[in-house]
Amino acid sequence: MAVYRLRLLLSLNRGIHGLCTRKFCSSTAPSQIKRVGFIGLGNMGSRMADNLFKAGYNVVVHDINHDVMRAFSEKGFLVKNSPLEVAEESDAVITMLPSSAHVMDVYTGPKGILNHADQLRSWLFIDSSTIDPQTSRKLSAAVATSSLKGGSSTPAMLDAPVSGGIVSAENGTLTFMVGGSEEAYMSARPLFLSMGKNIIHCGGPGNGSAAKICNNLAMAVSMLGVSEAYSLGQSLGIGATTLTEIFNSSSARCWSSDTYNPVPGVMNGVPASRNYDGGFATKLMAKDLNLAATSAKEVGATSPMTSSALQIFTELCDGGYGTKDFSCVFRHYFHGKDEV
Ligand code: NAD
Repeated sequence: MAVYRLRLLLSLNRGIHGLCTRKFCSSTAPSQIKRVGFIGLGNMGSRMADNLFKAGYNVVVHDINHDVMRAFSEKGFLVKNSPLEVAEESDAVITMLPSSAHVMDVYTGPKGILNHADQLRSWLFIDSSTIDPQTSRKLSAAVATSSLKGGSSTPAMLDAPVSGGIVSAENGTLTFMVGGSEEAYMSARPLFLSMGKNIIHCGGPGNGSAAKICNNLAMAVSMLGVSEAYSLGQSLGIGATTLTEIFNSSSARCWSSDTYNPVPGVMNGVPASRNYDGGFATKLMAKDLNLAATSAKEVGATSPMTSSALQIFTELCDGGYGTKDFSCVFRHYFHGKDEV
């Protein structure tokens, strides 16, 4: 709260005395993009918008949740009642929404951005939601053929989903996987660097979304692999601590064994050590696997691991574990035991 009050005070000061400090003044933002619109202020978006604000951008926000809007207004943000009003006021607009349908609604719905493109100030559109690459490509094409003027800049769309979760969103250490033109990517880099630390250009439109779902597919399958192995090991009489020592110094080593171990009692500070609370929700993993399965079907890719992983994580959600961290698969699907 103190930071927001200070920033409010400083911007008032600037208006009256023409004064400014480097840390909080919007003139520290790159000249091309001064005002940033942010739509979708949930677990991730609220923290990302906060970090843009702290970096000195003027941030204009919108969410359908009125409590969230009120909270942002109290923090000193300019709040707007529709995506269109946000885009009227911003150079760049970032969306961080639950799914493809929400993103399409914000862009092409009745009060959607592209329905009134000719009236807008915005020219750069960044979607950081995790959605399927096909929708990202459709949106990119819609922006390219819209009546957006873009002033002196060419209107552009980037798909830029993130990896890292709520803690990284809060700390500004997200990884962004970016799809779209090189030029748009370079223009957006300062924005990404205000919210993340690894920014990777993955190629043309949709490639950021493709990278994100491939990453999460690989993460799901490796978590299932080690969980099944730990559970089998326990049944065969090998404890998970011993098995972890072996995995981590041999060929089975992976993030699920050395950083995010699913067996309670093996590692501190991971969701498994706190009853699988916090972390990356099983329902979000099921959502991402669903996107991978749909994409694989559309391009005719062979994907037996995707199908099995989707089935297992869906079963966990149906069993009431949707809000638990996805590493709970060890306990609630494979019936593995805690390490004592
Ligand atoms: P969330 O449900 O907490 O937040 C979504 C927000 O969007 C909510 O505040 C909701 O009110 C708002 N919203 C929905 N429809 C809207 C509309 N039409 N207009 C304006 N606002 C609208 O979700 P989240 O956890 O912040 O995740 C956002 C995206 O990031 C998802 O695509 C998710 O898969 C992805 N993601 C989440 C995590 C995570 O750990 N939570 C990690 C990586 C990626």
